[in-house]
Amino acid sequence: MAEERTTPQAVSPGSVGSIRLMGVPIRLHFTFVLLLIFLLIGLGSSQSPINYFLFILAIVVSVLLHELGHAFVSSRYGIRTLEIVMFPIGGVARTERPPKPREEFWIAVTGPLVNLLIAGLMLGFLYSQKKTLDVLALGQPMDANLADRIILGNLILAGFNLLPAFPMDGGRMLRAVLSPFKSEYEATRIATWCGRMLALSMGLYGFIFMPLLTFVAFFIYLGAANEGAASRGRNLTQGIPVRAAMMTGYHTLTHGSTIRDAANLLLSTSQQDFPVVHGDQVVGLLGRNSLLRGMAMEGPDSYVAGFMDRGFISIAPDQDLAEVLPQMANAGACVLVMEDGKLLGLLTSENLSQFLLLRSAGLQPAQS
Ligand code: ZN
Repeated sequence: MAEERTTPQAVSPGSVGSIRLMGVPIRLHFTFVLLLIFLLIGLGSSQSPINYFLFILAIVVSVLLHELGHAFVSSRYGIRTLEIVMFPIGGVARTERPPKPREEFWIAVTGPLVNLLIAGLMLGFLYSQKKTLDVLALGQPMDANLADRIILGNLILAGFNLLPAFPMDGGRMLRAVLSPFKSEYEATRIATWCGRMLALSMGLYGFIFMPLLTFVAFFIYLGAANEGAASRGRNLTQGIPVRAAMMTGYHTLTHGSTIRDAANLLLSTSQQDFPVVHGDQVVGLLGRNSLLRGMAMEGPDSYVAGFMDRGFISIAPDQDLAEVLPQMANAGACVLVMEDGKLLGLLTSENLSQFLLLRSAGLQPAQS
């Protein structure tokens, strides 16, 4: 189906591997893998290797459940989670459209609540076993206090994520709380400013006392800066229909075109993605990578139909540009603008960034 939004382009750059939970693809960002390797090197305290492994596994699962909590509430509001990418400071859920402030508050608060729930359930279990939490012994990782450390880990995850600073969940909650008084752009600016200040002070503290903290601070800073940029993008596109930014001068291929025809178009135009049509029906989209794959696998005389993407994304011309930004976030993304099955134009991440550039320089979009 043309509406199926599962093109390979909807993947965050720099992520590896993938599993699906509750229909949501979950990927590890490569820096997360680095952290795990780093943690494995740090092995060698008074706990056994299997215990150490269990501890890391429990924390990863806790972060995952936290993210699935977000995804669950999002889906209750009808917002699909495109993917969850696991970063060293936690997961990041990428959703199909940005939530409204009220929705954002409840989506954000659910993650930390999941961690509090895990900690609460485990504490309850410990008490039922007539064991108590030995707070003083937590600094000494031992086999005997594995459960205690998992509880502490979840409490730290909850507390850390409730800090009112982007990219933490608390930053989202702060933005939602500010939304009745400030514009989305202003509210985001305040929350990302808090995030940057938190990152700078953590980085400075970490630099002197705890190097690992500098690593965390780096990701917080990056997250805050990213959200700031995304918010600027939304501010520049809100209320503008897709048709104002789409590319209307483009070439198409037909069902019977060969990879050679496609390669000639790629070389003679600046276009990278070609809609493949059959009559006036769009049957697929051939991107540059698929073209190269076809060339390498079956040569220039093979048909494009064998390599085109049939699950391309299509959007309506009157859809708000701000709503499609998440889908256009990756370099090389291309979606088709269609109305009643008819192709009207293309929207690519390249022409969208040109559009944003012109908008920030003061261009007013043409009225349509
Ligand atoms: Zn969260």
